[in-house]
Amino acid sequence: MKRAALRNIAANICVLGLLLCTAPPAHAEWVRRVTDGIMGTRITVELWAEDPAKAEQAIDAVLEEMRHIDATMSTYKPTSEVSQVNDKAADGPMHISKELFDLLVTAKQYSEITDGAFDITYASVGYMYDFRKHVRPDEKQIAKALPAVDYRHVLLDPKRQTVQFSQKGVRIDLGGIAKGYSVDRGIDVLKGLGYTRAFVGAGGDSRIIGDRFGKPWIVGIRDPRKGEGNVIARIPLVDAAISTSGDYERFFDEGGVRYHHIIDPHTGHSASKVRSATVIGPYATRTDGLSKTAFVLGPEAALEIYNRLDDIDAIIVKLDGSVVYSKGMQRASEAPPPAPAN
Ligand code: ADP
Ligand code: MG
Repeated sequence: MKRAALRNIAANICVLGLLLCTAPPAHAEWVRRVTDGIMGTRITVELWAEDPAKAEQAIDAVLEEMRHIDATMSTYKPTSEVSQVNDKAADGPMHISKELFDLLVTAKQYSEITDGAFDITYASVGYMYDFRKHVRPDEKQIAKALPAVDYRHVLLDPKRQTVQFSQKGVRIDLGGIAKGYSVDRGIDVLKGLGYTRAFVGAGGDSRIIGDRFGKPWIVGIRDPRKGEGNVIARIPLVDAAISTSGDYERFFDEGGVRYHHIIDPHTGHSASKVRSATVIGPYATRTDGLSKTAFVLGPEAALEIYNRLDDIDAIIVKLDGSVVYSKGMQRASEAPPPAPAN
Protein backbone atom coordinates (compact mmCIF):
# COMPACT_ATOMS: atom_id res chain seq x y z
CA MET A 1 0.00 0.00 0.00
CA LYS A 2 1.21 3.53 -0.81
CA ARG A 3 2.63 5.61 2.04
CA ALA A 4 0.08 8.37 1.56
CA ALA A 5 -2.76 5.85 1.84
CA LEU A 6 -1.26 4.46 5.07
CA ARG A 7 -1.03 7.98 6.45
CA ASN A 8 -4.66 8.64 5.55
CA ILE A 9 -5.72 5.56 7.46
CA ALA A 10 -3.50 6.60 10.41
CA ALA A 11 -5.02 10.07 10.41
CA ASN A 12 -8.57 8.69 10.37
CA ILE A 13 -7.77 6.39 13.27
CA CYS A 14 -6.42 9.51 15.04
CA VAL A 15 -9.76 11.27 14.69
CA LEU A 16 -11.58 8.19 15.96
CA GLY A 17 -9.11 7.96 18.82
CA LEU A 18 -10.27 11.36 20.12
CA LEU A 19 -7.18 13.18 18.84
CA LEU A 20 -4.85 11.39 21.23
CA CYS A 21 -2.87 9.91 18.39
CA THR A 22 0.40 11.54 17.21
CA ALA A 23 0.49 10.19 13.63
CA PRO A 24 1.79 12.72 11.09
CA PRO A 25 -0.71 14.82 9.10
CA ALA A 26 -2.56 13.06 6.32
CA HIS A 27 -1.23 15.05 3.41
CA ALA A 28 2.54 14.56 3.57
CA GLU A 29 3.83 14.44 0.00
CA TRP A 30 6.63 15.28 -2.40
CA VAL A 31 6.42 18.93 -3.42
CA ARG A 32 8.34 19.97 -6.53
CA ARG A 33 8.81 23.28 -8.33
CA VAL A 34 10.80 24.14 -11.45
CA THR A 35 11.70 27.81 -12.00
CA ASP A 36 13.54 29.39 -14.92
CA GLY A 37 15.46 32.63 -15.02
CA ILE A 38 17.56 32.83 -11.87
CA MET A 39 21.30 32.84 -12.68
CA GLY A 40 20.26 32.25 -16.28
CA THR A 41 19.41 28.65 -15.51
CA ARG A 42 16.69 26.23 -14.44
CA ILE A 43 16.20 25.76 -10.71
CA THR A 44 14.52 22.61 -9.42
CA VAL A 45 13.52 22.14 -5.80
CA GLU A 46 11.80 19.02 -4.52
CA LEU A 47 11.15 18.06 -0.93
CA TRP A 48 9.15 15.75 1.29
CA ALA A 49 6.71 17.85 3.26
CA GLU A 50 4.18 17.20 5.99
CA ASP A 51 2.57 20.55 5.14
CA PRO A 52 2.56 21.34 1.39
CA ALA A 53 1.61 24.99 1.96
CA LYS A 54 4.67 25.48 4.20
CA ALA A 55 6.76 23.61 1.62
CA GLU A 56 5.82 26.21 -1.01
CA GLN A 57 7.01 28.93 1.38
CA ALA A 58 10.26 27.01 1.93
CA ILE A 59 10.78 26.83 -1.83
CA ASP A 60 10.13 30.60 -2.03
CA ALA A 61 12.87 31.07 0.58
CA VAL A 62 15.31 28.93 -1.45
CA LEU A 63 14.60 30.95 -4.60
CA GLU A 64 14.94 34.21 -2.67
CA GLU A 65 18.40 33.12 -1.49
CA MET A 66 19.36 32.25 -5.06
CA ARG A 67 18.15 35.64 -6.34
CA HIS A 68 20.31 37.29 -3.70
CA ILE A 69 23.36 35.28 -4.82
CA ASP A 70 22.64 36.16 -8.45
CA ALA A 71 22.33 39.86 -7.55
CA THR A 72 25.65 39.73 -5.66
CA MET A 73 27.73 37.60 -7.99
CA SER A 74 26.51 38.02 -11.54
CA THR A 75 28.83 39.79 -13.96
CA TYR A 76 25.82 40.39 -16.22
CA LYS A 77 24.51 42.83 -13.61
CA PRO A 78 26.62 46.03 -13.49
CA THR A 79 25.38 46.73 -9.94
CA SER A 80 26.48 43.37 -8.51
CA GLU A 81 29.24 43.27 -5.93
CA VAL A 82 31.43 41.24 -8.29
CA SER A 83 30.96 43.84 -11.05
CA GLN A 84 32.02 46.53 -8.56
CA VAL A 85 35.11 44.49 -7.70
CA ASN A 86 35.95 44.18 -11.40
CA ASP A 87 35.63 47.96 -11.74
CA LYS A 88 37.67 48.97 -8.71
CA ALA A 89 39.88 46.24 -7.24
CA ALA A 90 42.89 47.08 -9.42
CA ASP A 91 42.97 50.56 -7.82
CA GLY A 92 43.55 49.30 -4.28
CA PRO A 93 42.17 47.06 -1.51
CA MET A 94 38.39 47.01 -1.56
CA HIS A 95 36.19 45.95 1.35
CA ILE A 96 33.68 43.28 0.35
CA SER A 97 30.92 41.28 2.04
CA LYS A 98 31.88 38.29 4.14
CA GLU A 99 29.91 36.04 1.82
CA LEU A 100 31.83 37.11 -1.28
CA PHE A 101 35.14 37.10 0.58
CA ASP A 102 34.62 33.53 1.76
CA LEU A 103 33.68 32.38 -1.73
CA LEU A 104 36.81 34.00 -3.18
CA VAL A 105 38.88 32.12 -0.59
CA THR A 106 37.14 28.88 -1.61
CA ALA A 107 37.71 29.63 -5.32
CA LYS A 108 41.40 30.12 -4.65
CA GLN A 109 41.56 26.74 -2.92
CA TYR A 110 40.07 25.06 -6.00
CA SER A 111 42.68 26.79 -8.17
CA GLU A 112 45.36 25.31 -5.95
CA ILE A 113 43.79 21.82 -5.89
CA THR A 114 43.39 21.76 -9.70
CA ASP A 115 46.85 23.07 -10.63
CA GLY A 116 45.27 26.29 -11.87
CA ALA A 117 42.67 24.64 -14.16
CA PHE A 118 39.90 26.28 -12.16
CA ASP A 119 40.63 30.00 -12.18
CA ILE A 120 38.04 32.75 -11.74
CA THR A 121 40.40 35.23 -13.49
CA TYR A 122 39.74 33.29 -16.71
CA ALA A 123 37.27 36.17 -17.16
CA SER A 124 40.13 38.55 -18.02
CA VAL A 125 39.96 36.82 -21.42
CA GLY A 126 36.56 35.18 -21.03
CA TYR A 127 34.64 38.45 -21.07
CA MET A 128 35.50 38.81 -24.75
CA TYR A 129 33.52 35.69 -25.69
CA ASP A 130 29.81 35.83 -26.35
CA PHE A 131 28.66 32.33 -27.18
CA ARG A 132 25.11 33.34 -27.99
CA LYS A 133 26.27 35.89 -30.54
CA HIS A 134 29.13 33.67 -31.84
CA VAL A 135 31.70 36.28 -30.80
CA ARG A 136 35.25 35.35 -29.81
CA PRO A 137 38.50 37.27 -29.32
CA ASP A 138 41.22 37.00 -31.96
CA GLU A 139 44.73 35.75 -31.18
CA LYS A 140 46.07 39.28 -30.65
CA GLN A 141 43.36 40.14 -28.14
CA ILE A 142 43.94 36.87 -26.30
CA ALA A 143 47.72 37.39 -26.14
CA LYS A 144 47.24 40.90 -24.77
CA ALA A 145 44.75 39.86 -22.06
CA LEU A 146 46.32 36.54 -21.05
CA PRO A 147 48.88 37.87 -18.53
CA ALA A 148 45.95 39.05 -16.41
CA VAL A 149 44.69 35.45 -16.09
CA ASP A 150 46.18 34.03 -12.90
CA TYR A 151 44.36 33.42 -9.63
CA ARG A 152 47.45 34.68 -7.80
CA HIS A 153 46.57 38.18 -9.01
CA VAL A 154 43.61 38.15 -6.60
CA LEU A 155 44.95 39.35 -3.25
CA LEU A 156 42.75 38.57 -0.26
CA ASP A 157 43.27 40.09 3.19
CA PRO A 158 41.21 38.15 5.77
CA LYS A 159 41.83 40.70 8.56
CA ARG A 160 40.47 43.62 6.59
CA GLN A 161 38.13 41.46 4.46
CA THR A 162 39.41 43.14 1.32
CA VAL A 163 40.20 42.09 -2.22
CA GLN A 164 42.71 43.71 -4.53
CA PHE A 165 43.91 42.85 -8.04
CA SER A 166 47.68 42.99 -8.38
CA GLN A 167 47.44 44.49 -11.87
CA LYS A 168 45.10 46.23 -14.31
CA GLY A 169 43.09 44.11 -16.70
CA VAL A 170 42.23 41.40 -14.16
CA ARG A 171 38.58 40.38 -14.08
CA ILE A 172 36.88 37.67 -12.12
CA ASP A 173 33.75 35.66 -12.84
CA LEU A 174 32.21 33.20 -10.40
CA GLY A 175 30.12 31.43 -13.07
CA GLY A 176 32.15 28.27 -12.47
CA ILE A 177 31.21 28.02 -8.81
CA ALA A 178 28.18 30.24 -8.09
CA LYS A 179 25.52 27.74 -9.13
CA GLY A 180 26.99 25.05 -6.91
CA TYR A 181 27.25 27.57 -4.09
CA SER A 182 23.62 28.63 -4.53
CA VAL A 183 22.56 24.97 -4.39
CA ASP A 184 24.40 24.54 -1.08
CA ARG A 185 22.81 27.71 0.29
CA GLY A 186 19.40 26.43 -0.86
CA ILE A 187 19.98 23.15 0.97
CA ASP A 188 21.04 25.13 4.08
CA VAL A 189 17.76 27.05 3.93
CA LEU A 190 15.77 23.81 3.76
CA LYS A 191 17.78 22.15 6.52
CA GLY A 192 17.26 25.24 8.68
CA LEU A 193 13.51 24.82 8.21
CA GLY A 194 13.72 21.20 9.32
CA TYR A 195 13.49 19.39 5.97
CA THR A 196 15.43 16.13 5.84
CA ARG A 197 14.58 14.82 2.34
CA ALA A 198 15.16 17.27 -0.50
CA PHE A 199 16.73 17.93 -3.88
CA VAL A 200 17.99 21.33 -5.07
CA GLY A 201 19.34 21.71 -8.60
CA ALA A 202 20.61 24.72 -10.56
CA GLY A 203 21.45 23.79 -14.16
CA GLY A 204 24.20 21.16 -14.01
CA ASP A 205 24.70 21.42 -10.25
CA SER A 206 22.56 19.52 -7.74
CA ARG A 207 22.55 18.37 -4.15
CA ILE A 208 20.44 15.92 -2.27
CA ILE A 209 19.71 15.44 1.41
CA GLY A 210 18.24 12.20 2.67
CA ASP A 211 16.83 9.40 0.58
CA ARG A 212 13.45 8.58 -0.95
CA PHE A 213 12.29 6.28 1.84
CA GLY A 214 14.79 3.49 1.52
CA LYS A 215 15.55 4.27 -2.12
CA PRO A 216 18.21 6.64 -3.46
CA TRP A 217 17.52 9.65 -5.64
CA ILE A 218 18.44 9.03 -9.27
CA VAL A 219 20.34 11.70 -11.20
CA GLY A 220 20.93 11.23 -14.93
CA ILE A 221 24.13 12.18 -16.73
CA ARG A 222 23.33 13.50 -20.17
CA ASP A 223 24.90 12.05 -23.29
CA PRO A 224 27.07 14.97 -24.47
CA ARG A 225 26.30 14.37 -28.14
CA LYS A 226 22.58 13.71 -27.92
CA GLY A 227 19.65 15.94 -27.01
CA GLU A 228 18.40 16.61 -23.52
CA GLY A 229 16.79 13.54 -21.98
CA ASN A 230 19.36 11.12 -23.45
CA VAL A 231 21.46 9.84 -20.60
CA ILE A 232 24.65 7.80 -20.53
CA ALA A 233 24.20 6.79 -16.90
CA ARG A 234 21.79 7.05 -14.00
CA ILE A 235 23.52 7.63 -10.70
CA PRO A 236 21.83 6.64 -7.41
CA LEU A 237 22.62 9.21 -4.71
CA VAL A 238 21.88 9.84 -1.05
CA ASP A 239 23.28 12.86 0.84
CA ALA A 240 25.52 13.96 -2.01
CA ALA A 241 26.16 16.68 -4.57
CA ILE A 242 26.74 16.19 -8.29
CA SER A 243 27.92 18.60 -10.99
CA THR A 244 28.24 18.04 -14.71
CA SER A 245 30.15 20.33 -17.04
CA GLY A 246 29.66 19.84 -20.77
CA ASP A 247 30.90 21.38 -23.99
CA TYR A 248 27.28 21.39 -25.21
CA GLU A 249 25.98 23.93 -22.68
CA ARG A 250 26.95 27.22 -24.29
CA PHE A 251 28.85 26.95 -27.54
CA PHE A 252 29.10 27.63 -31.23
CA ASP A 253 30.93 25.68 -33.92
CA GLU A 254 33.09 27.48 -36.46
CA GLY A 255 35.52 26.04 -38.99
CA GLY A 256 35.30 22.60 -37.37
CA VAL A 257 36.19 24.01 -33.92
CA ARG A 258 33.83 24.06 -30.97
CA TYR A 259 34.02 27.30 -29.00
CA HIS A 260 32.38 26.83 -25.62
CA HIS A 261 32.13 28.32 -22.18
CA ILE A 262 34.97 26.60 -20.30
CA ILE A 263 38.21 28.48 -20.87
CA ASP A 264 41.73 27.13 -20.44
CA PRO A 265 43.42 29.72 -18.19
CA HIS A 266 46.80 28.91 -19.76
CA THR A 267 45.78 29.57 -23.38
CA GLY A 268 42.62 31.70 -23.26
CA HIS A 269 40.96 29.26 -25.68
CA SER A 270 38.05 26.92 -25.01
CA ALA A 271 39.24 23.94 -23.02
CA SER A 272 38.39 20.95 -25.13
CA LYS A 273 40.14 17.90 -23.72
CA VAL A 274 36.91 16.07 -22.82
CA ARG A 275 33.22 16.23 -23.79
CA SER A 276 31.81 16.16 -20.30
CA ALA A 277 32.87 15.69 -16.71
CA THR A 278 30.66 14.77 -13.78
CA VAL A 279 31.92 15.14 -10.24
CA ILE A 280 30.24 13.68 -7.16
CA GLY A 281 31.05 14.85 -3.65
CA PRO A 282 29.58 16.19 -0.43
CA TYR A 283 28.92 19.83 -1.44
CA ALA A 284 27.79 21.37 -4.72
CA THR A 285 30.24 24.28 -4.37
CA ARG A 286 33.01 21.71 -4.35
CA THR A 287 31.70 19.53 -7.18
CA ASP A 288 31.04 22.64 -9.31
CA GLY A 289 34.54 23.97 -8.63
CA LEU A 290 36.08 20.65 -9.67
CA SER A 291 33.98 19.73 -12.73
CA LYS A 292 35.86 22.05 -15.12
CA THR A 293 39.27 20.51 -14.39
CA ALA A 294 38.97 17.64 -16.85
CA PHE A 295 38.32 20.05 -19.74
CA VAL A 296 41.56 21.92 -19.05
CA LEU A 297 43.89 19.15 -17.91
CA GLY A 298 42.49 16.16 -19.83
CA PRO A 299 41.02 12.94 -18.42
CA GLU A 300 44.20 11.33 -17.06
CA ALA A 301 45.56 14.33 -15.14
CA ALA A 302 42.07 15.20 -13.88
CA LEU A 303 41.46 11.64 -12.65
CA GLU A 304 44.76 11.78 -10.79
CA ILE A 305 43.50 14.86 -8.95
CA TYR A 306 40.02 13.42 -8.33
CA ASN A 307 41.48 10.15 -7.07
CA ARG A 308 43.67 12.03 -4.60
CA LEU A 309 40.56 13.59 -3.01
CA ASP A 310 38.88 11.11 -0.66
CA ASP A 311 35.43 12.71 -0.89
CA ILE A 312 35.31 13.01 -4.70
CA ASP A 313 34.26 10.68 -7.52
CA ALA A 314 34.07 11.42 -11.22
CA ILE A 315 32.74 10.17 -14.54
CA ILE A 316 34.37 11.61 -17.65
CA VAL A 317 33.23 11.30 -21.26
CA LYS A 318 36.39 11.49 -23.38
CA LEU A 319 36.65 13.03 -26.84
CA ASP A 320 36.20 9.63 -28.49
CA GLY A 321 32.97 9.12 -26.54
CA SER A 322 34.41 6.48 -24.19
CA VAL A 323 33.74 6.84 -20.48
CA VAL A 324 36.29 6.70 -17.65
CA TYR A 325 35.60 6.57 -13.93
CA SER A 326 37.43 7.58 -10.77
CA LYS A 327 38.68 4.80 -8.49
CA GLY A 328 35.65 4.95 -6.20
CA MET A 329 33.24 4.38 -9.11
CA GLN A 330 34.86 1.16 -10.26
CA ARG A 331 33.20 -2.07 -9.23
CA ALA A 332 34.70 -3.83 -6.24
CA SER A 333 35.43 -6.81 -8.51
CA GLU A 334 37.54 -4.56 -10.77
CA ALA A 335 39.61 -3.16 -7.93
CA PRO A 336 43.07 -4.62 -7.45
CA PRO A 337 43.15 -7.40 -4.84
CA PRO A 338 44.25 -6.33 -1.36
CA ALA A 339 47.94 -6.81 -0.60
CA PRO A 340 48.55 -10.15 1.15
CA ALA A 341 49.08 -9.87 4.92
CA ASN A 342 52.36 -11.22 6.22
P1 ADP B 1 27.22 25.79 -15.57
O1 ADP B 1 27.45 27.26 -15.68
O2 ADP B 1 26.12 25.30 -16.44
O3 ADP B 1 27.14 25.31 -14.16
P2 ADP B 1 29.90 24.77 -15.57
O4 ADP B 1 29.77 24.33 -14.18
O5 ADP B 1 30.55 23.87 -16.54
O6 ADP B 1 28.50 25.14 -16.22
O7 ADP B 1 30.67 26.16 -15.50
C1 ADP B 1 30.96 26.86 -16.68
C2 ADP B 1 31.22 28.30 -16.31
O8 ADP B 1 32.44 28.36 -15.55
C3 ADP B 1 31.44 29.21 -17.50
O9 ADP B 1 30.24 29.71 -18.01
C4 ADP B 1 32.29 30.30 -16.86
O10 ADP B 1 31.47 31.23 -16.20
C5 ADP B 1 33.10 29.57 -15.81
N1 ADP B 1 34.45 29.18 -16.25
C6 ADP B 1 34.91 28.95 -17.53
N2 ADP B 1 36.19 28.55 -17.53
C7 ADP B 1 36.58 28.53 -16.23
C8 ADP B 1 37.80 28.20 -15.57
N3 ADP B 1 38.88 27.78 -16.25
N4 ADP B 1 37.83 28.30 -14.22
C9 ADP B 1 36.76 28.72 -13.53
N5 ADP B 1 35.58 29.02 -14.07
C10 ADP B 1 35.47 28.93 -15.41
MG1 MG C 1 28.27 24.34 -12.75
